Amino acid sequence: MRWSERQRAMLKEIGVRLWEPPANTDEAVASPDVAVAERPPAEALRAEERGAAAPVTIGPRAVGVEAMDWPALREAVAGCTACKLCKGRTQTVFGVGNLNAHWMIVGEAPGEQEDRQGEPFVGKSGQLLDNMLRALGLTRSEADAARQVYIANTLKCRPPGNRNPEPEELAQCEPFLIRQVALVKPKIILAMGRFAVQSLLRSSEPIGRLRGRVHHYQGVPLIVTYHPAYLLRNLEDKAKAWDDLCLAAATAKA
Ligand code: URA
Repeated sequence: MRWSERQRAMLKEIGVRLWEPPANTDEAVASPDVAVAERPPAEALRAEERGAAAPVTIGPRAVGVEAMDWPALREAVAGCTACKLCKGRTQTVFGVGNLNAHWMIVGEAPGEQEDRQGEPFVGKSGQLLDNMLRALGLTRSEADAARQVYIANTLKCRPPGNRNPEPEELAQCEPFLIRQVALVKPKIILAMGRFAVQSLLRSSEPIGRLRGRVHHYQGVPLIVTYHPAYLLRNLEDKAKAWDDLCLAAATAKA
């Protein structure tokens, strides 16, 4: 394989090169209502009051998710007991970022730290994700919609012991993600990791067979790439991940 200058820079740091950042236009500056979403105190209170060991009855998912606005959706996720994952969570992990982001990152499920902090990708793999985003001129921190991404997971609750998500859990949770996509209206979705990718694309193909081309989810172009946690263990695939990011950047601009 011939290494381009960018790929060399990527490998030197964390596997990514600097992508030309999108123009920071005045009209694109985020207004207060599109700033980073914060978990409402009420949600934290409920989680604390309930306690991890308290019994929780599994119930139906909230109805009307497809028409919810952000506050209603956040509330529905926070109170969801539609699958057994509600029993073990400290709190739900809704998603963070610019509510009009051009880029939406979709991961798998919260891990231990995400469950504790209520934000996706805050562990080691989150640091790598942040570095990958930075290399593209993107960030999870407050910025305009062209530069600040929105990050969500296919599952809003942590599977116990970080086990793999189960099909029934993915099915129960998917309407929330579908609504998030509909509300954000991203130009591009970057799906990271086998479970996120296979669940969104209704495929059982491995990532290696799905990456390198443009898919669609809910009408939005979707690029498949490896999960940051996988990349931390398989450094040799960082170059492929960088190629995926470049494809996503080109697709978003098209
Ligand atoms: N892995 C994911 O897929 N999502 C997270 O939020 C954390 C780790």
